[in-house]
Amino acid sequence: MRFKALEFALSRQPIKVNREHNSVQELFASNVFNDDAMQTYLDKDTYKALKSAAENGTKISREIASQVAVGMKAWALEHGVTHYTHWFQPLTGTTAEKHDSFFEPQDGRAILKFSGGALVQQEPDASSLPSGGLRNTFEARGYTAWDPSSPAFIYENTSGKTLCIPTVFVSYTGQALDYKAPLLKSISLLDKAATDVCKYFYKDVNKVSASLGIEQEYFLVDKALFNQRPDLVMCGRTLFGYAAAKNQQMDDHYFGSIPDRVFNYMVDFENEALKLGIPLRTRHNEVAPGQYECAPQFEEINLAVDHNQLLMDLMDEVANRHGFKVLFHEKPFAGINGSGKHNNWSLITNTGINLLSPGNNPLSNLSFLTFFVNTIKAFHDHSDLIRASIASASNDHRLGANEAPPAIMSIFIGSTLTKVLEDLVNNVAAPKGKGSDEEKTISIARIPEILLDNTDRNRTSPFAFTGNKFELRAVGSSKSCASPMTVLNAAMAHQLAQFKADVDALIEKKEKKNDAIVAVLQQYLKDSKRVLFEGNGYGDAWVKEAAKRGLSNLRDTPSALHAYVSDLTVNVMGELGIFTKEELKARYHIELEDYMKKVQIEGRIIDEIAYTHVLPPALEYQKKVAENVASLKAAGASKKSIAASMEVMEEVGEHINALKTKVDRMVEARKAANKLDTIEAQAQAYSDNVNKEFDDIRYHADKLERLVDDTLWSLPKYRELLHIK
Ligand code: ADP
Ligand code: MG
Repeated sequence: MRFKALEFALSRQPIKVNREHNSVQELFASNVFNDDAMQTYLDKDTYKALKSAAENGTKISREIASQVAVGMKAWALEHGVTHYTHWFQPLTGTTAEKHDSFFEPQDGRAILKFSGGALVQQEPDASSLPSGGLRNTFEARGYTAWDPSSPAFIYENTSGKTLCIPTVFVSYTGQALDYKAPLLKSISLLDKAATDVCKYFYKDVNKVSASLGIEQEYFLVDKALFNQRPDLVMCGRTLFGYAAAKNQQMDDHYFGSIPDRVFNYMVDFENEALKLGIPLRTRHNEVAPGQYECAPQFEEINLAVDHNQLLMDLMDEVANRHGFKVLFHEKPFAGINGSGKHNNWSLITNTGINLLSPGNNPLSNLSFLTFFVNTIKAFHDHSDLIRASIASASNDHRLGANEAPPAIMSIFIGSTLTKVLEDLVNNVAAPKGKGSDEEKTISIARIPEILLDNTDRNRTSPFAFTGNKFELRAVGSSKSCASPMTVLNAAMAHQLAQFKADVDALIEKKEKKNDAIVAVLQQYLKDSKRVLFEGNGYGDAWVKEAAKRGLSNLRDTPSALHAYVSDLTVNVMGELGIFTKEELKARYHIELEDYMKKVQIEGRIIDEIAYTHVLPPALEYQKKVAENVASLKAAGASKKSIAASMEVMEEVGEHINALKTKVDRMVEARKAANKLDTIEAQAQAYSDNVNKEFDDIRYHADKLERLVDDTLWSLPKYRELLHIK
């Protein structure tokens, strides 16, 4: 089967992408119920009401909803759509949809119907989706409710088109069963808190949005080869595989020219993405062979998260057409780089000011420093929760491995800003401002205007300031960004409200406004400066240093997840109204279960592959060598001349024994873990006793792959998976 798969893979031709549209202008958002479509298909009042709901969260009345439904239906039918669905993001981390047809039989005829009610709210049941116990208790019903801030879109499959309406998914009692509901809450809280703080600097600001640009890394593997690897099919990563002699050590793949088959694939999914209004702009080869990246232009955060979820679906589907399988797993291959999803985040006012962009006058500098330092403090205070929000079985393989940010949450800000903050804390007076009275009172160092160009890069930091935004680099490539972004927004909203209270308290004591702001920022910096780290995050020295500073280093998912239910989290999230204690507990359990099940599946596959794919060729080969030895002996060969064969036979035998012993031991550990009675204990046991065995087992299997006759080996090898394209 391996050679058949290889034949398949090697005979593939690049598939040229034909598109009826060939200009971006025509393609972009052609499948989105965007502003243009809204203006065409809705009357003026309906349009205005929908716009205001999208931008300011105002309520939409039933009548308006009905009008929107009429317009949306007309638009959809004109595009050949037959079904509609509420599109949501359950706690599986993927997207969910249940299609209903516009068609209804009436008096023996077919009519097409779509009511305001169907647009606004549905009860898809969906009771098999994870709820962490929220739906078992008294009311099992689950509802989806329209999110007008993310426009409806048309998803095309080969033989049908579906109108998708982005929705939140909540229980009968209003508890969130998805990722979008809490994200939306965090967005509106952050808006309010940031707008309040903005009033210190800019009177005309009345809205602040979080912006997000998501860089998405992924691997491509030939579909035929992929299907010959049970570990890739079941777990998304290889659990075995002897390293290819040449992988990324020559650095010749990074930013290299893109192979034709891959290029066509990229163009194809980019076209599909553009139609859905996903503003993809960047594509390139990544560091590891077979690894690539794409990135859109940043967008409002809710939209950016929706678009990334949609993009992953698209990429998966389009890959099929090109004979590829796309891997979003954080660590599909041992020994080479894994994949992340860098979350570029900042805050932008309705007047167009990027609040994380350093200004060129003292006042805008003070505004910048305010938001900058508050971000540092927010990250510092909630770093454990941020760590929890990116924790998963798959991301554990990446965090802390020497190519991704470590599990220690720290912030990199670059040398220029380090100096600026030092001066701020130490009250180093800058030349007093000349202009207005206000500017004259600001006695902090001026930030060089060239800052934007001279920020240094540090790839080893989980949270890096990159000129006019922060980049959360620790998010895993397979993960929805909603969770970490909800946490970041919430932490920032909480922090900014605290800041406002602290500054106002000083102003009440007759401090001048700007002096009060500076004083509070100085205190925050003192409180949180231990989270700032400019050095090499991969080094052992940092692990020791971080421990000295009292920073957490939560290396596995079960220990990282505790932060979901810590007193701090329960209090802050409760106070903000983003999560109740029950909702946090539910999420904690869902994540633990997800971890446990993933490791459990990996354990099962390791067992199966070891017995059915590694041992058989090894035994076969051992037998061949033994027969060879026997026939040489019978023919009177000297001891010396059979020495090498004997050695190979022994070596193969040793690894066979070790492999079997260790697999059996792991299976026992798995069974013991399953018997524990709480999910916490199970997950921890899976981490401590099961997962921990995997590398050791793999070591022997990989040695066998290296020893055994290539023609007997059934699993596609690393060199084939990574280099055939
Ligand atoms: P890198 O050099 O870090 O790999 P990329 O070009 O791959 O950069 O991606 C950078 C991402 O950051 C893009 O999605 C870009 O739109 C986004 N970005 C730029 N400015 C902002 C901002 N102010 N807020 C959020 N994201 C931003
Ligand atoms: Mg990039």
